[in-house]
Order: sequence, then structure tokens, then C-alpha cells
Amino acid sequence: MTSLPPYWVDPLKDQFTVTIVDSRPTEEHFEITIEENVVKAAGGGQAGDRGILRIDQEEIVVRDTMQRNSVVVMLTEKGFARGVKATLIIDMDWRLTIMRNHTAEHLFAAALKERYPALEPGAMWIDGDHGTVEMVGARVGLQELFYAEKSVQDIIHRDVPVSTEMVKASELDKSIRARESVEAKHDMVRVVRIGDSDAAACSGTHVLRTGDIGIFKIVDYKREEESVHVEFLTGKRAVTILYDLFNAALERRRSHPFELDQLGAVLDRGKQVSSEYAKVLEKMEHLLNSGPTIENIGGISFRHEFLPGFEVSSLKRVLKNITPDGPSAILYFAPGEKCNLVFWANDLPHEANIYINDAVTKLGGRGGGSKQVYTGGFSDVDNPEGVYDDLVEYLRAQLLHG
Ligand SMILES: [Zn+2]
Repeated sequence: MTSLPPYWVDPLKDQFTVTIVDSRPTEEHFEITIEENVVKAAGGGQAGDRGILRIDQEEIVVRDTMQRNSVVVMLTEKGFARGVKATLIIDMDWRLTIMRNHTAEHLFAAALKERYPALEPGAMWIDGDHGTVEMVGARVGLQELFYAEKSVQDIIHRDVPVSTEMVKASELDKSIRARESVEAKHDMVRVVRIGDSDAAACSGTHVLRTGDIGIFKIVDYKREEESVHVEFLTGKRAVTILYDLFNAALERRRSHPFELDQLGAVLDRGKQVSSEYAKVLEKMEHLLNSGPTIENIGGISFRHEFLPGFEVSSLKRVLKNITPDGPSAILYFAPGEKCNLVFWANDLPHEANIYINDAVTKLGGRGGGSKQVYTGGFSDVDNPEGVYDDLVEYLRAQLLHG
């Protein structure tokens, strides 16, 4: 059996003396082949190693490592003479982040699979910035996703050892997660075990203990009928976004003010306000272009407006500033989950409630008032426009028949 590469056996070893055996220019860069099997190429959903090749005083950046027809090549800015010896220095920030992300991916996939046994691994990409993983075969609940995230964090805190072993493909046990192709492609399969939490066939690089991951955070997700796609960060990158996010809220905590555990409700309210504001602008535009809606119903002037964003007090304030001329009726309706309305009957044969109260009650609302002014409201309204249209229709008939 050939000896195992150092990125499997000792992934923290970061310097090697290497011999250049091939150097080919391509359109964008050079592809360098070395004699030693010490650098990890992209594959199996994991990005390749990066680093520096040092020859004498000169340092040449290795941008990526890939497989070209089963030969490992490093992509560099500059070519080399064959036979030259160089020092290869692995970019350990990149590699360590890959190791954290990849190990976290195992834990997360295992945690989700425990909740949804039908899930199978789909597409995956792990690099030195972030990780993305797709699991296919079930609709995953949002709370279950967060539960899996928390269970990954628990295993990180327990600082469980990660071990690897080579196993004959034919002897792979059912409890070991493996993509179908793995057994078909190889005689020997590398199995990565994380304590007793997970065992998976994998050729990637991983941390030695789960505590090295530091922190695991989902940063985005997309749930579909039969799959879930998750993007995550680990380690320092995860801590940075959590600090930034928390402090963005903390900065506003006194000036707004709100308790931090109300952030979800605050965001929901923000969304509601902005959609109401859009409706207010739309209404204003309409009023500026067409003026108020005034109909003449059998000699009675009937004004009615659908006024998003208004409170009862502001509806009444608007009413106060109107000086009606002759018999008139005014309906102002403020939509929302709770709708409010004010109805004013001026110089008409009956008091305001005679015209409108039946309709309000029939439509599921409540109201009251004396003489000219009637105030009412509806709660849990799904379709405020519909309620408003029905009221207007009803009032037209009432005003016409007195
Ligand atoms: Zn792996």
C-alpha cells in the first residue's frame, strides 16, 4: 500500500521541500507539477490548497491546486525549470478554515440526517471562506435546521476527537455515510469518525478535535419541497459576523429603544411600517392627481377615502378641517390588520349611525357614536379593500333611499 499523504496524516504540517517535474503555461497561469504528493487538489466538493513556492529569495503564489487527468497541478503566476527544488509553504489560514468548514459539514449533515433519515447529501462546496451544503430527500423545517445548528455547536463544545482510518470499500458498514459513487470508484475508502457522532467516507481535510472548529453559524438557507441548501461559516469568520450583527442591534438599543430579544418583532414591525408607507405614498399620489373622491348621491355629496397609515385620531383631525356645504356624508377608512373608520353625516335627515351601523355589524365590525359622528373598527381583517368597497356600496344605497 502506498503511504498516505501528509494532508491526511498530519494536516498541520505546512512546509515541504519539493521538486518541480513539470511546468506548463496556459492562457491564464502556469500549471506546476511536483514529484511529492504533499498538496491537496480541489475535489469531492472541497477547494484545493493555496500557498507559496519559494526558490532562493523569490516567492511565487500558488493560487489553487487542481487535478488535470489525475495529475495534481498547482496554478501559479510564473513558470519554473524542471528539476528545480523549492520550498512549498501551505497557506494555513485557507487550509485550517477548510478543515473547520469540512468537519462542521460532517456534523451538520449527520445532525440533519438524524432528524430526517431520508436525507442524502447533494451538492457541496467547502473552501477557506465558507461552506455550502445541500441535503436532498425531505422538506426540512426551519426550526429543525436551527436545532441541527445547535447540536453541531454542542459537539464543538464537547471537543470530540476526529479520527481517520482506511477501510476496504467492500467492508463499508451501513452506519457510515458515503456517496454512492465512493464504493464503486475505490478499493480502499478513507473513513472519518467524529467520536460516536458521525462516520463518513471522505477524502477531504478535517480538524483533529471538534473544539478546533470554534463556532458554527448558518448564514443563509434555502428550503425547497425536497431539499435544503445551507451556507455556513466557522471559526473567526463566524464570530466576526455575529459581532457585527449583534452590535448593529446593540447600537440602536437605547435610541429606539427595544430589548434585544424583541429584535424579531422589531424587524416585523419595520417591514409592516415600510409597506404601509408605500401605500400612503400611493394614496397621496392618487389624491394629488385626482383630488378627493366626491360623488353626488341624490343631492347628497358623499366623500369617501381609503387612507392607509391613519389612526382614528388623525382621521378625526382631517374631518374637523372640512367645512361641508349642504347635505353631505364622509367616510374615512384606515386599513390594517385592525381597520378603523369614521363616518360623518352633516345636514342629513338621520343621525350617522342609522346609515352605517348595520353594515359595520354585518361585516363583522363594531362601532358607535352619537349624532353626526360614528366611529368603528374591524379586527383580524384579511382583505381591508373588500370591507371598504362593501361599506361604500352599502352607504350609497342608504344615502339614496334615506
Ligand atoms: Zn470530509
